[in-house]
Amino acid sequence: MQPNPTNAHSSFSSLSLEQPLLKAVSKLGFDKPTPVQELAIPPALEHKDLLVSAETGSGKTAAFLLPTLHHLITLPSRLTGTRALILAPTRELAQQIFKQCQQLIEFTDLKVGIITGGDDFRLQQNMLRRNTEIVIATPGRILELMEQEIPNFTNLEVLILDEADRMLDMGFSEDVLTIVKSCNTQRQTLLFSATLTHFGVIKMADKILKDHKIIALNTLHDGHRNIEQQLVVADDNDHKQKLLAWLLLNETYDKALVFTNSRIQADLLRGPLRGQKLRVGVLHGEMDQKDRNRMMELFRDGEIKVLIATDLAARGLDIKGINLVINFDVPRNGINYIHRIGRTGRVDELGLTIALVKSTEWNLMSGIERFLKQKFKRRTIKELEGKYKGPKKLKASGKAAGIKNKIEPKKVAAEKVKIRHRDKKNVGKRRTPTAQPAEQTTAPQEQQD
Ligand code: AMP
Repeated sequence: MQPNPTNAHSSFSSLSLEQPLLKAVSKLGFDKPTPVQELAIPPALEHKDLLVSAETGSGKTAAFLLPTLHHLITLPSRLTGTRALILAPTRELAQQIFKQCQQLIEFTDLKVGIITGGDDFRLQQNMLRRNTEIVIATPGRILELMEQEIPNFTNLEVLILDEADRMLDMGFSEDVLTIVKSCNTQRQTLLFSATLTHFGVIKMADKILKDHKIIALNTLHDGHRNIEQQLVVADDNDHKQKLLAWLLLNETYDKALVFTNSRIQADLLRGPLRGQKLRVGVLHGEMDQKDRNRMMELFRDGEIKVLIATDLAARGLDIKGINLVINFDVPRNGINYIHRIGRTGRVDELGLTIALVKSTEWNLMSGIERFLKQKFKRRTIKELEGKYKGPKKLKASGKAAGIKNKIEPKKVAAEKVKIRHRDKKNVGKRRTPTAQPAEQTTAPQEQQD
């Protein structure tokens, strides 16, 4: 649990929430609000638009659900259509929000529905026609339903975008804007993102929020205090495979998540790990929804102890007992890194994360360290020490010295002129001073999940 930054509200009852909600919160065993709940609930209850940065596992779902539910209970409506719409980037996250919403409305008359791809279209149509008050959805299926003019958001009171940065990274920007255009303009909008240092999120906030309050609770630079972060260098992927098997056989953990950058790599790891008698499953975007659900269930129930996943699974996976996350591939950027390690060390849990780094990934990894303003603990596995020990010489930035820049000098110069030109044009244009874009460290694009 993160330290309480305000101490203004030490209990849920002091947040003036409706009684049925307090009863549900107590049944869930939430003793006191987490920092994001303390900071976001009061202004949300005043019906303010919010832009909130909150890391995964911080209790952000209840931070936007509780004030929304309070509003729906205290101001009943006779109008038709959906009253609160929550958009999430992945089906898994939508399902998780749905589950928490069901728990929180247990003692109310409110109804919630979920709309995601892969589920029955007709059931979703019927649910929308019944004027279900709260709808949790992924953008794609909502758009399909909109083509048939089924959803009615003209009387929408609250719109929530959860993990907006991820939604934009996944290419949903236009879809989200189309959905937003169909919504009541008088609504309240809450935008939650792991980071505020994301251009797309800042742009989206400017477009869809009105006079919004920014709650920068967790910037990427806060670090994950309850997660120990280690780095093990490796010669190549074969060496990494041996290190991975060793770690999975020797570390103490309840459940482990292994991340790869491509689904091919994820599939490749399964066989050798099973050969070591490890109970392993794979989760990636190529699998159909039924198989993905089954895999999550097996992992949740402890039938498999190790899940190999691509970034798709990095968000919205809220499974208790994940206390080891191994990055088989170094993630493409700092934001993905945060989302991956955010799967461990959730509220009140401790976690260990280990990145396996080969020479070609060194600079990417050190870029991520710089981006996060953190230095990961270097660790060697004596039994499996390789030839590569990290760069011989390091630059002040932590990157390997003496590696030639792959872009030829002419191109670099042209790029610099372009940036200078753009910066000149943009002077004085920035609207949200707290949301300066941070440096992004991005690896070459590989096959996406
Ligand atoms: P979230 O960041 O919304 O995914 O929440 C992460 C986990 O924290 C979920 O399993 C929640 O059930 C749990 N949680 C949320 N709020 C609280 C709270 N106030 N106290 C304890 N656990 C909480």
